[in-house]
Amino acid sequence: MNAFEILLIMALLFVTSEMIRRKRPSGVEIPATGLNIVCNRTPLSRIALMTPVEQTLNWLADKRDVMIERVLEWSAVNSGTDNLPGLARQAQLLERDFSALGARFERRMGPPERILNNSGEMDEVERAPVLFWKKRPEAPFQVFLAIHYDTVYPADSSFQRATWLDHQTLQGPGVADAKGGIAVLLYGLLALERHPAAAQLGWVVALNGDEEVGSPSSTPLLLEAVQGARVGFLFEPTLPDGSLVRNRKASGNFSCLIRGRPAHVGRDFQSGRSALFAAADFLHGLSALNNHPGLIANAGRVDGGGPSNVVPDLAIVRFNLRAASQADIDFAHDQLKVLIAELNARDGIQAQLEGDFSSPPKILDAAGLDLLEFVRECAREEGLELGLRDTGGACDGNRLMGAGLPNVDTLGVRGDCIHSDREILFVDSLVERARLFARILCSLADNPDRVRADRSMVAITGGSVC
Ligand SMILES: [Zn+2]
Repeated sequence: MNAFEILLIMALLFVTSEMIRRKRPSGVEIPATGLNIVCNRTPLSRIALMTPVEQTLNWLADKRDVMIERVLEWSAVNSGTDNLPGLARQAQLLERDFSALGARFERRMGPPERILNNSGEMDEVERAPVLFWKKRPEAPFQVFLAIHYDTVYPADSSFQRATWLDHQTLQGPGVADAKGGIAVLLYGLLALERHPAAAQLGWVVALNGDEEVGSPSSTPLLLEAVQGARVGFLFEPTLPDGSLVRNRKASGNFSCLIRGRPAHVGRDFQSGRSALFAAADFLHGLSALNNHPGLIANAGRVDGGGPSNVVPDLAIVRFNLRAASQADIDFAHDQLKVLIAELNARDGIQAQLEGDFSSPPKILDAAGLDLLEFVRECAREEGLELGLRDTGGACDGNRLMGAGLPNVDTLGVRGDCIHSDREILFVDSLVERARLFARILCSLADNPDRVRADRSMVAITGGSVC
């Protein structure tokens, strides 16, 4: 049999299988789960005609249900950032599920977070460990992959379980941010490991449990682990329409600690110095920062005070700042110095500022833009035209970019209403985005020159990168 005859037979097989496939209904209703499950078995003759990348991606064709199962199971475990027992249970499930990758596993503790308590003293708060998996560190192209396994929902939140809004929409804690993203990461990697050129690509996965409070404990470990990586991918949810995030604002949590002088209100009011009235003046000045384009100032809480017949001698204003650029960060620092100095100039009032910007602005440079364009090219090969938007939200992508690692940080699922008890995941995006991620990895394994990312690691010292 010559080559022409072999080709002819394969073409005939393909046409026959297509005719059979078109006669068959494409979806089978499974009433037990209420989900439309499409039986997606690709005929062997078609697989034979596929490129190696398409064959690799085809492994994901019937993974929708198992990915949903994983997300449901993970979402049912409360992993609020402060819930260490819940995070430990979540970590156990992840260790079990990621063991399928056959990678070296390590669990590492970062330093404790330092938090100003309500008495004005510094507390050290332990955070959850970072879970690392490493495979093929000797491979010529190294990729860093990260996402968080904590959520914003505390242990006593009323939002604890996922429910179906319709066959396409799952509502639940962390389903989009970022447990759906963890599923995309896991299944994309499982697909890569079936690709003939996988040996060309080494990877590190880092899952941290303190991202929702700005990664105070995990940041030093993440920055250590990116050494040697050419590019990074993170699995935060996309915007609801599937768009990727391009630029992000810097973010920082701050506390202004104000001490005054206590006094009995009736007998000796004049000698008292109210820390709460001073805090009110500070808040007024803080609010004025919002007049500066590129800056957002939000006061989250004021702690302090006591019985209303005593002049309060302690107040703590807790606030968050967002800044679009380094110049905006510098402006904010200058203004805060002025506000603190004004308070300290008052008789009987002492004020000090704690905290800083924990993530720099993420403004894509040439390498970052190149990587983003590469991801969009891969998406086009998948039939997806992905939009780009800027956002005020910060994530670990800011910190990794600040350390010189070009990264795309919204390779997770399509979802909406994150950080609220209406958080939803569009479940079709699980396989859609796992395919996209697997295509990205396969493309890098086949042809690493598709990204021209040229890294220049910037040394980071201490917890602050600004
Ligand atoms: Zn997130």
